[in-house]
Amino acid sequence: MKTIALIAHDHKKDAIVALAREHAALLRGCHLLATGTTGGRLRDEVGLTVECLLSGPLGGDLQIGARLSQGEVDAVIFLRDPMTPQPHEPDINALVRACDVHDVPCATNPASAGALLRDLSR
Ligand code: PGA
Repeated sequence: MKTIALIAHDHKKDAIVALAREHAALLRGCHLLATGTTGGRLRDEVGLTVECLLSGPLGGDLQIGARLSQGEVDAVIFLRDPMTPQPHEPDINALVRACDVHDVPCATNPASAGALLRDLSR
């Protein structure tokens, strides 16, 4: 079973809920990891089973980065808000860097996330 990590900044949370609804059939067959608030919305609004970690600003991105570095994550959907400064910018960069170090696909906007999820469902 594939493990997919899902994270969305606040202005992108509606977008990740819409994306998850569209790809619910695939996501139901995966182990899902998410930062706290994102995971709660996916659980409550899409009905997915999600392992919720800490909220991003409290270390959730770092937790996902650590799991990924141990080989436990197959893909990352990380809908970042490019217009708003984030208090945990270093953590965000660390997670994206970990994806590059370990060659794990990381989609940072809805268009690339859709392409990645379509690829995973093939
Ligand atoms: P959240 O974290 O899902 O807990 O809001 C996301 C983030 O801001 O990194």
